Amino acid sequence: MNGTPSRTPPDLRIGQGYDIHRLVAGRPLILAGVTLDHPEGLGLDGHSDADVLVHALMDALLGALSLGDIGQHFPPGDGRWKDADSLDLLGQVMTLVREQGWEVVNVDVVVVAERPKLRPHIAQMRSHLAAHLQIPPDRVGVKATTNEGLGPIGREEGIASYAVALLHRP
Ligand code: MG
Repeated sequence: MNGTPSRTPPDLRIGQGYDIHRLVAGRPLILAGVTLDHPEGLGLDGHSDADVLVHALMDALLGALSLGDIGQHFPPGDGRWKDADSLDLLGQVMTLVREQGWEVVNVDVVVVAERPKLRPHIAQMRSHLAAHLQIPPDRVGVKATTNEGLGPIGREEGIASYAVALLHRP
């Protein structure tokens, strides 16, 4: 009618994720599969490797497809996920995403941590995530910010992460 071309809207889904883990002594500090040195020797507490960045990202991917959250897919009470490599879990989430016919367009992640400085490690983090998401690194945003010393993150009681993911079905 009226010469207006009929267009099918692109099949797109967006999801968000959030996670926080406590900083404790005697644990590794792993973000996007990169092991970092905290000046006080602190690391992230958790049942798996406590990779808070990857956890937020997995929840964004699952959320985009209304597939629940990582607590449902990888219950913390389940011995299979004890000290699990979260990048392996991300691979499992991506299998689920692809099985349903979806692909990742891009993702963007924020890590909120007072220390250590993350900038020197961001390229490696993006490369790890890109490999598991099967997209080029220029579609993987990883940003770091401090909490300006405010609140529990400012007191270095924990590290938090936020993520968004855009998916499309070709
Ligand atoms: Mg977590």
